[in-house]
Amino acid sequence: MNILLNNRIISRESFTVDLEDRGFQFGDGIYEVIRIYDGFFFEWEAHLERLVRSAKELMLPLPTAIHTLYQNLQLLMKDSKITNGTVYIQVTRGAAPRFHAFPKETEPTLVAYVREMQRPLEQMRNGIKTITTEDIRWLRVDIKSLNLLGNVLAKQKAVEQGGAEAILIRDGIVTEGSSSNLFAIKGKQCFTHPANHLILNGITRQVVLRLLNNSELTLHETSFTLDELLEMDEVFITNTGQEVCPVIQIDDSVIGKGTPGVYTRQLQSAFEALLGAVIPS
Ligand code: PMP
Repeated sequence: MNILLNNRIISRESFTVDLEDRGFQFGDGIYEVIRIYDGFFFEWEAHLERLVRSAKELMLPLPTAIHTLYQNLQLLMKDSKITNGTVYIQVTRGAAPRFHAFPKETEPTLVAYVREMQRPLEQMRNGIKTITTEDIRWLRVDIKSLNLLGNVLAKQKAVEQGGAEAILIRDGIVTEGSSSNLFAIKGKQCFTHPANHLILNGITRQVVLRLLNNSELTLHETSFTLDELLEMDEVFITNTGQEVCPVIQIDDSVIGKGTPGVYTRQLQSAFEALLGAVIPS
C-alpha cells in the first residue's frame, strides 16, 4: 500500500511516525473519511470543507491548499487501483518536544491512504441491533478530531453486547451513534438532533436532510429523549460507510415491527438513485 504524506506518495513501509508527533501523543489532529464509489469521491467538496472547518476550530494549519489536496487524493486513488472503498485523511499538528501549548515552528503532518470496502448490504437490508450508553465525550464533538476514546468505548460496549452500534445519550437526550448520526420517524414526522456542538454534522446526514426535502416526511432538527426514541415507528443511522442503515432493535426494545421501515427503505432508494446520478459513467 502507498500513502500520501503531505505532498508526496510514498510506500507504507517507508513511513514512520515521529515519537513526538502531537497526533500520537495528544490526539492533536483531525481526520476525514471519504467514500469512493466507482472511482468517484462521493461528496468530496463537503468532506474537504468539513476538514477545513475542523482545522480552523483547532487553529491547525493545513499543509497544502485544498485543491492541491484534492488532486493528490485523485493521484493516490489511481495509484491504489481501488475503485470502491474509502480514503482516510489525517492531519496532526506535527512533531515537537512534548508541551501542551502549540509549538511555534512545527510543520503539520498530513497522511492519507485508500482502503477497499464493499457496501454493507446485509446490514442495510436487514437492519441492525443497537445498544444505548451514556455520551461521555467532550463538548466539541462537532470537530472531527482524533480524540475518539468516548466513541471507541461506546462501540466496544455495543460489540460486547452483540450490537452493531451504540446510541449515545447525554442528560437523557439522544445525540448520535458512536460513529453515525441518528434519525427517528413517528407517523410522518422525522426527528434528528440539531447540528450543534453535541454531534458531528455528518455528510451523509446532510445528504439525507436534502432527500427529506423531497419526501412526504416533515423534518424536525430537534432533540428527543431515549423514552421518545423507543416509541418511534422507524429508526435509522447514517454515515459514510453504512449510508442509510435501519435500526431494528435498541437494547431490549424492538423498533416498529422489527424490520426496516417503509420510509427508511424509501430513503435508501433515494440515496442509491443519488449515487447513480453523481457517479459519472
Ligand atoms: N457521528 C460520528 C460520531 C461519526 O464518527 C460519524 C462518522 N464519521 C458520523 C456521525 C457520520 O458522519 P459522516 O456521514 O460524515 O460519515
